[in-house]
Amino acid sequence: MTTRRNEFNFSGGPGALPASVLLQTQRAIETLPETGISVLGMSHRSEWFVSLVEEASQNLRALLGLSDEYEIAFMQGGSSLQFATIPMNFAGQAWAPPQYVSSGYWSRRATAEAQRVYRCAVAWDGVHSRYSELPDLTKLDIDPRAAYLHYVSNETVEGLQFGAQEGPSNVPLIADMSSDFLSAPIDTDRYSMIYAHAQKNLGPSGVTVALVKRSLLERVPDGLPAILDYRTHIEHRSNYNTPPVFAIYVLTLVSRWLRDEIGGLQSMCAINERKSAAIYGALESLGDAVRIHAKAPWRSRMNVAFSFGDERLDRAFIEFTGERQMTGLEGHRSLGGVRASLYNAVTEQAVASLCEAIREFALARI
Ligand SMILES: *Cc1c(COP(=O)(O)O)cnc(C)c1O
Repeated sequence: MTTRRNEFNFSGGPGALPASVLLQTQRAIETLPETGISVLGMSHRSEWFVSLVEEASQNLRALLGLSDEYEIAFMQGGSSLQFATIPMNFAGQAWAPPQYVSSGYWSRRATAEAQRVYRCAVAWDGVHSRYSELPDLTKLDIDPRAAYLHYVSNETVEGLQFGAQEGPSNVPLIADMSSDFLSAPIDTDRYSMIYAHAQKNLGPSGVTVALVKRSLLERVPDGLPAILDYRTHIEHRSNYNTPPVFAIYVLTLVSRWLRDEIGGLQSMCAINERKSAAIYGALESLGDAVRIHAKAPWRSRMNVAFSFGDERLDRAFIEFTGERQMTGLEGHRSLGGVRASLYNAVTEQAVASLCEAIREFALARI
């Protein structure tokens, strides 16, 4: 049954969404209770949409404890567009090259894209450990004149997560939090900018959240195309051109779910800790029969990348779990193996079923 497959969606992205959000979305596609017409036909110039954006911003501010020094923009183009617009807006002749932590697939993509715009420096490279560990950000040797330091808080493909680490305080810190945003409380004051697309933890694809400190916005050079200038989206309250109304609607429902059903980011974090501890525990109990890609101190609570050490066994495991209605467990094409993504909406019951499947598979096949 489709509802069961929804519950067992371990996809790396677009990820699982809460059942209550899917139900409200289903109804809103037919008729949005507040307006009497389908959410898909709602004008972005309507009062309803203007107050929706306002609510989404307020909910994010409240969940994160975000100070008034930050602006919020809901943008399009995914996190990949942010890779390009960040150096366009915030680097330039007045600063030394921006520094990039190259710790896995997505930070490599971010660095390569930024390089096309502006000369960048690689502050740390995880290539020697095959991207299985992360650096201590406070120990990096960063030029204090650097435009900023960019890193990816959770490497989605390799399953590496920085956690609540301190960064260097002498340069602005910019983080791509696409795959762990709103999964735990964060000390937002440490950052000059945080961005995250919706499709892993916040909603469907189509919208990307950018939190930008006002002091950073003062750097934006004149003459950028308006659509690539953060100030445009902030001044127009994320309504410069037709925004992704539907994606912002679902994101708002998810923010209400986090507040009302989960009880905030502290509770979300506790649930996510239990989920990931259960999976890592089940895998570790198999000893040498399984290899977890990330070294222990950097293991992600969102994405668990592992392998049974043999492509055929990995494929057999994916088939085995598929027969139990579990989906989305194939590893990323760049790494292979298996990846279980445990985003906010993946339930503890679903994780318990996956742990059970891991044990049963090991007994039957290894
Ligand atoms: C998935 C992912 C991306 C890619 O985002 P798009 O919205 O597809 O451009 C970027 N960064 C991280 C950390 C990701 O997990």
